[in-house]
Amino acid sequence: MALLEVEHLEVCFPSRDGEIRAVRDVSFTLERGERLGIVGESGAGKSVLAFSLLKLLSRPGRIVRGQVRFEGRELTPLSDRQLRRIRGNRVAMIFQDPLTTLNPVLTIGQQMIESLKAHRRIAARDARILALHKLRQLQVSSPEQRLEQYPHQLSGGLCQRVVIAIALLLDPDIIIADEPTTALDVTIQAEIIALLRQLCDKHNVGLIVISHDLGVIGQLTQRLLVMYAGRIVEQGPTREIINDAQHPYTQGLINALPQMTLPRQRLAQIPGNMPTLSRAPDGCAFHPRCRYGFTSSGQPRQDCRERVPGIIVSGDSQVACHWVQELIATAPVEEDMP
Ligand code: SF4
Repeated sequence: MALLEVEHLEVCFPSRDGEIRAVRDVSFTLERGERLGIVGESGAGKSVLAFSLLKLLSRPGRIVRGQVRFEGRELTPLSDRQLRRIRGNRVAMIFQDPLTTLNPVLTIGQQMIESLKAHRRIAARDARILALHKLRQLQVSSPEQRLEQYPHQLSGGLCQRVVIAIALLLDPDIIIADEPTTALDVTIQAEIIALLRQLCDKHNVGLIVISHDLGVIGQLTQRLLVMYAGRIVEQGPTREIINDAQHPYTQGLINALPQMTLPRQRLAQIPGNMPTLSRAPDGCAFHPRCRYGFTSSGQPRQDCRERVPGIIVSGDSQVACHWVQELIATAPVEEDMP
């Protein structure tokens, strides 16, 4: 049994323009110890999907269809009280900006001890020992001193290590990390990526990382979901997708990565913008931006414009595109990524 199973999940927000379907028919699984990435541009629905897994959606957002199972137990009918026991205890979240996650008026020690006491019966002295142990595990320098410091006294990288230490205090089974390295500079990013990989491998923790940055996801994850306008358009092994993406949107994201183009080569941007979710086009939502979505005379292809593509299994990947088989058949053979 998978650690987490998501089946046909749909999340909606009512609005003046009508119902906004922020997550549409999303299905995936996460195994114990697996590192899964969710990638897409802003507005693709990645964060809404992550928040909906633990019913942490801001109101009036709600799950209207589908199931989320954790160790086989259905989460969607659970009360807030029952879910609180799972959140923090079994599933921990790490957010983009560590400084806004931490409370500025409490020391690191107070925050770690409070977090432990909120979920476990534990004496303050034992909680302090455990907090120190986690800081050491996260290779935080001078951990005793850090416990007495306030967040503003730490660097961004150190703050993110503390946030990860807090997330790991209760030995969760899953960590959900929303853009965990976006607010950090490149060197610190690499350290946090290495740290998360090592922690998941060593402690068999499942990791879901949400990012707009395919470079970060490529280094950190084993499996990848690519989202566009609330739907998964491609999913499969990360390395396979990065070396040989099959959905035109994923290909566009990869072509826009600086390290994958030759020196002095202009980066290929995907034309146009992600549609607002309240006005996502019919059919394949990517069709107005897709270079394959038009006939040679420049007319939109009828099936791209009118029918939502079903899932096509291709190798170890799944791709939602009407024309994927033809695109594979005509694609030039390229060298794999080193
Ligand atoms: Fe492009 Fe059509 Fe495939 Fe959508 S279904 S990605 S518009 S070719």
